Amino acid sequence: MSESIGFIGLGAMGGPMARRLLDAGHTVTAFDPNAKALEALVAHGATAAASTKALADTVETIFVSLPTPNIVKAVAEDVAKGAKAKLFVDLSTTGPRAAQDIGKILNAAGVEMLDSPVSGGVGGAEKGTLAVMVSGPEAQWTRWRPVLEVIGKSAFFIGEGQGQGQMMKLINNMLSATAMAASAEAFALGAKAGLDPDIMVNVINAGSGANTAVRDKFPKAVLTRTFDYGFRTELMYKDVRLCMEEAEALGSPMWVGQPVKQWWSLALARGGATEDFTNIMRYVEEQAGVEVRGRKNDPKP
Ligand code: NAD
Repeated sequence: MSESIGFIGLGAMGGPMARRLLDAGHTVTAFDPNAKALEALVAHGATAAASTKALADTVETIFVSLPTPNIVKAVAEDVAKGAKAKLFVDLSTTGPRAAQDIGKILNAAGVEMLDSPVSGGVGGAEKGTLAVMVSGPEAQWTRWRPVLEVIGKSAFFIGEGQGQGQMMKLINNMLSATAMAASAEAFALGAKAGLDPDIMVNVINAGSGANTAVRDKFPKAVLTRTFDYGFRTELMYKDVRLCMEEAEALGSPMWVGQPVKQWWSLALARGGATEDFTNIMRYVEEQAGVEVRGRKNDPKP
């Protein structure tokens, strides 16, 4: 069935997700303050809206993929004023507390919310292989599941409690952030001891140390020295910070998380907000006094 969908936030993730919805035959009305991003989606078949409010005046169901909890909240406040809006599907990572606050603002205006954060990176958004973690009214999940499965072949219903999808996402990303920081330390040590990083990747991927950093990020963006995987350091730091805040609020130990957060804090301080998160390797290298470089990219003959 072809659905009419609003889409706000056409960035690294939102752009490809919205394109997939168009390719699947849905009608998409879109908004992004970045004119280039909006034009690119219009060229793909979307209709442009002049603003968030204008979009919410014309479409009932609105998907958003936005950078920070505060931006999602501001956009939700505008959506709540829209004449037609009935459902807000938040694909961003905001954390559970923000999701609950945003849900209240929307519910007060008669708009329901599914918090539906995603995992799997830009490649997953392009291929439609994201993991989608949905919470909110179960009837809306049942109704919108086929559309959510266009962007993520693994779409999971986490529960009716607002924010549970967000909690699931923070736990997932804490593990991903830990794998990246710990793998950077491991590769620096290996390189210092004279091990070949390419062989390390092969062994770890075949062994019990296997993880998503060594499987995906090291071969694609670290050993190549391109550091261009497609996720900003500020977003990774946000996820780790939000997860640590939840652990503290719930009184649950997250001792390994402390040094992981410190590594990401260092990467943010040294490389800045918009640098690709795989650059964490370079800051671990600085501390270790070694460089981790794949054979194909070795400048030495
Ligand atoms: P991005 O910065 O590339 O895209 C965000 C888009 O939102 C931009 O196009 C921007 O112009 C737009 N935007 C900003 N303020 C706006 C506003 N007030 N109104 C409307 N649009 C506005 O970010 P991204 O990497 O696509 O991430 C989006 C969300 O998805 C984040 O919450 C992130 O944590 C999460 N996420 C990202 C990845 C990833 O690999 N990049 C993976 C999983 C989840």
